[in-house]
Amino acid sequence: MVKRKLRITAEAIAAVRKAAEAAGQDECMGVLAGRAGTDLVTEAMVLPAEASACHAEAEPLGIARTLAAIAERGLVPKGIFHSHACLGVFHSGTDEATIRRLFPQMATQDFRRPKPGTLAPTIESDRAVVPLPDGRCLEVTLLGQRIPETNAHERVSWGKGEISFEPDAVGADVGITDQGSRLRVASGGVVMTLPVPEDATLTISKVDRALYRIAHVYSLVVNRAGGAEARCLAVYALNGERIVREAACELEVVGDAQAPSREGKRAPAAGRPSEGNTDGQV
Ligand SMILES: [Zn+2]
Repeated sequence: MVKRKLRITAEAIAAVRKAAEAAGQDECMGVLAGRAGTDLVTEAMVLPAEASACHAEAEPLGIARTLAAIAERGLVPKGIFHSHACLGVFHSGTDEATIRRLFPQMATQDFRRPKPGTLAPTIESDRAVVPLPDGRCLEVTLLGQRIPETNAHERVSWGKGEISFEPDAVGADVGITDQGSRLRVASGGVVMTLPVPEDATLTISKVDRALYRIAHVYSLVVNRAGGAEARCLAVYALNGERIVREAACELEVVGDAQAPSREGKRAPAAGRPSEGNTDGQV
């Protein structure tokens, strides 16, 4: 299983720690947010909640207001955090149930096409496909002369092409250049030059062949002793359905030399809160 990282800025994790400290012996909870299409949490916003030492339940109105404030700042929700105050850091049965219930909806604004496995172009006899980093691709189709009185075209093929490898240019040189008698196709560090037969025409289009969308949504549990445990749910949108899969996850704090780059040691799970499956509880 690919290990995911909950990447969070030093400022955002500091806001989580501060909220946990301010809640004292009680739990507290909030929303993690960041820019759509990125894998970085830049904000942690506390939710107004009814809280005790082993329980926190956010107020629906507070949730709506916080989500509106996140949208106003041009951000999207990336998950939730909550504190276990003085208890250990772990995801209880209630926590698991909460994230499985909330996250498919929370993922909505952050769905992306799956990343292509390779960025190298694919060349067929009359087609060239360049995968783009955003999961779409550029497709060039070679068309021969039109067959009279039909909409069909004669089949033609590329001439003998040349290929070169520029491993240093991976990601830097992406695209298709129509050079008249030749087509230059560059991506993933591979550059191909394909002679275009006379009388052939090229159609170039950007197409989306991704079969599904994916978003990663995170849950972070902290305590006042400095412990932290992250969970990640991969949410897939496929044919109108949402499918969730749990991914292994570690925490990475970004952008502060003073902070350790990783946290995530499990503190002993002393005094587990009673488990249940009530809405909005952690
Ligand atoms: Zn919890």
